[in-house]
Amino acid sequence: MKRYLNFLDGRKCELSNIYAVASNYKKHADEMGTTIPDEPTIFLKPTSAYISDGGTILLPKFSNEIHHEVELVVVIGKDGNNVSEEDAVNYIAGYAVGIDVTLRDTQTKAKKEGKPWGIAKGFYTSAPISSIVPATEFNGNIPDFDLLLKVNGEIRQSANTRMMERSVAQLVSFISKVFSLNEGDCIFTGTPEGVGKIQDGDTIFAELVGFVSLTCFVANKLEG
Ligand code: MG
Repeated sequence: MKRYLNFLDGRKCELSNIYAVASNYKKHADEMGTTIPDEPTIFLKPTSAYISDGGTILLPKFSNEIHHEVELVVVIGKDGNNVSEEDAVNYIAGYAVGIDVTLRDTQTKAKKEGKPWGIAKGFYTSAPISSIVPATEFNGNIPDFDLLLKVNGEIRQSANTRMMERSVAQLVSFISKVFSLNEGDCIFTGTPEGVGKIQDGDTIFAELVGFVSLTCFVANKLEG
């Protein structure tokens, strides 16, 4: 089925690829016991992972440690490849807040065994994304945003995107050279520190402070 991203101004755009960046904030790399890689570490989520504001994250039975990771999501507005960092802003349609929901126990096992993270990062409902703030609000600049995440009203993550090790322009340029860019692509740009467990019954609130927010509910998946 086709899935659509919602802009705050009422426009819609068909969702294309979902990319995500690992270890893009030093303090999060520290809490994971890892370092900032020499080249960006990119993984993908299938479009079936996407849920919009008000959706429910369904926890698979085979994981006992499921984490929230609040992230700035960059939405691509036109096709392209080999885009320079200077030109990257011209390919951005807008910005959203997303949660890179992660099966941490599954991911840790995959890391140990040298296997891909597809299941840990790409399971059904693992990519909640808010409505999109149109890039036209920022006069040709790529702004810094305050990111916030609360679980049941309690603040768990709070940081500014200026703490990213690789900038939005660097990531858009890099992804354009490796994969090419498609209109409707979403790029999860990495999480700051403070990741932690979520469980059945939780309500998660994430925000690009002052611009847009996302509320998701958490429930156990009945099958699978
Ligand atoms: Mg992440």
